Amino acid sequence: MTPRQPGTLYGIIGYPLGHSLSPLLHNWGFSQLGLDGMYMAWPLEQEKVADFITAARTLPIRGVSVTIPHKQTVLPLLDRVSDRARRLGAVNTLYWDRDALCGENTDVLGFLAPLRGRSFSEALVLGAGGAARAVLAGLAELGVPRVRLANRTAARARELAAEFGVEPLPWEERAAVGADLIVNASPLGMRGERAGETPLTREGFSGRGLAYDLVYNPLRTRFLAEAESAGWETQDGLGMFVEQGRAQFRLWTGRELPADGARELLRAALGY
Ligand code: NAP
Repeated sequence: MTPRQPGTLYGIIGYPLGHSLSPLLHNWGFSQLGLDGMYMAWPLEQEKVADFITAARTLPIRGVSVTIPHKQTVLPLLDRVSDRARRLGAVNTLYWDRDALCGENTDVLGFLAPLRGRSFSEALVLGAGGAARAVLAGLAELGVPRVRLANRTAARARELAAEFGVEPLPWEERAAVGADLIVNASPLGMRGERAGETPLTREGFSGRGLAYDLVYNPLRTRFLAEAESAGWETQDGLGMFVEQGRAQFRLWTGRELPADGARELLRAALGY
């Protein structure tokens, strides 16, 4: 009898994982391109991360997405980490380069994708968690001359602002800023407990600019609706999600996950 060959495994680690759209996206990509691969959801508690990495070195796991709260934990466990991920202090993708287990961060590429070719004079970032780190790194790559960071917990804004060389702004003053790019990097507006909430109302959007919400479920958040009513352009978080996933897929397979089809797939999954 011929022994069965193991399949090629991919997956996402995080805890709790909640309802991730990554399995849908990547499994669709494998089937569209006729590739051998199965992407799974692996909820993993913090204390099990090191054992998981050891196991991944012997199992047919070819790629891993890493989400909250493990993006920092995995860093010292890898053979190589890209400069970008190291600067950020966060890895969201594991992939193999021959025998070396490598870490990359594709959130920055994802964040930048809808902004390519555009320029802004002043940005305001709302929130100081893991996503805000990717945003600040992206804004530095984009060369935005002035960036301010406001967060509910002031000390966290100060720390992160110092790390990235941007200006901290008291949370209470966030509506009085003349920025032309405002990014919501907080979970306000997300489906569930935070639905219908916004870090900024219409009065906070003065002049003209782009409101960019990292939240993608729902696609149409109150933050974007308030911005639109003030005459601002809007960008939802789906573009970032799709592009960070496409960058992962590229690292794992060397192939391009079709962008339009991916967006349609996820829009449908989100009920649009
Ligand atoms: P996180 O690390 O948990 O950070 C959350 C941030 O939001 C913290 O700065 C926190 O402030 C602030 N916050 C939480 N609740 C708040 C409230 N009620 N009022 C004001 N501020 C509040 O989360 P994250 O990983 O940065 O993710 C943030 C959001 O970005 C999530 O909605 C996530 O889904 C989204 N995201 C989207 C993509 C994408 O591809 N589109 C990628 C990554 C993340 P404190 O410091 O005061 O607690």
